[in-house]
Amino acid sequence: MRTDERTLAYGGGWLDRAAALRADPAWIAARLSDPESVLLPLWRDRCLVSADRAPVRRSAAEAVGLRSAADETVFLGLDAGRAVFAVDLSGRGDAEACELAGAAEAVDVRALVGGLGAAEAAVQAYAKGLLHWHRGQRFCGGCGAATAAGDGGHTRSCTGPDCGRLLFPRIEPAVIVLVEAPGDAEWCLLARHRGAAEDSWSTLAGFVEIGESLEDAVRRELAEEAGVTVVDVAYQGSQAWPFPAGLMVGFRATAASTEVRVDGEELVEARWFSRAELRERVAAGRPLGRIDSIDHHLLHSWLAAGD
Ligand SMILES: [Zn+2]
Repeated sequence: MRTDERTLAYGGGWLDRAAALRADPAWIAARLSDPESVLLPLWRDRCLVSADRAPVRRSAAEAVGLRSAADETVFLGLDAGRAVFAVDLSGRGDAEACELAGAAEAVDVRALVGGLGAAEAAVQAYAKGLLHWHRGQRFCGGCGAATAAGDGGHTRSCTGPDCGRLLFPRIEPAVIVLVEAPGDAEWCLLARHRGAAEDSWSTLAGFVEIGESLEDAVRRELAEEAGVTVVDVAYQGSQAWPFPAGLMVGFRATAASTEVRVDGEELVEARWFSRAELRERVAAGRPLGRIDSIDHHLLHSWLAAGD
């Protein structure tokens, strides 16, 4: 991809996560009582926004009621020394959550991303992913006892006797691949996914399975979904994708032959596109991948590389 990773939405390391400090409950408590600290309220995976669709940010001093109404409050990091927390109001009704937060409505971050700065989009997505994980890990998978948050909200531990299992936020990696034609890097393979719009073409992607390397997953996905054997699998870049727990890992690869045979399940059609054809599509205003996705970046960096 050869681009600054901050150009990919939802990542960029905008906050100092202060891993050593957040492990200290007294430090977290002090940050929560610091009037300079900032709270971001979320509701059931959605940002709570004002009437002009700006995510609500409340100072810790003015938001004591917000915290006491929350299911969970987690430390996200330090922004120029100021602590930033996410507050989960998912246990409340829609209207009550908006009222508590002083918000007009609840909106998914992906629907807002075009109007948000890169840092705001990244922090909201991070908050969404971390709070989502907490809601799904309230009980221990080993003994069934309740779990409790620790490390400022970056672990949970089992409260059951003789258990104490420690849980870490889970990330589910997926590979996404731009495949070039054998011996002719002017052509790439795109597919139409089941349920996608009629003229919606994208690179191929799939989840990594247990016991696979990322490269193994690339080779398997292409073989399973498109009947294509690929070689020269090369890493391009990665993207945080906390919707709810993804990490998208981008690759280029080269097909061993131009023969394509889609599985008919996940993919309904796949074919080779030339750079010239894709450039014509872009010039005609037909988008190549969502603007916030690594799919978009893989395609546009491939087009740019042909210049
Ligand atoms: Zn347990």
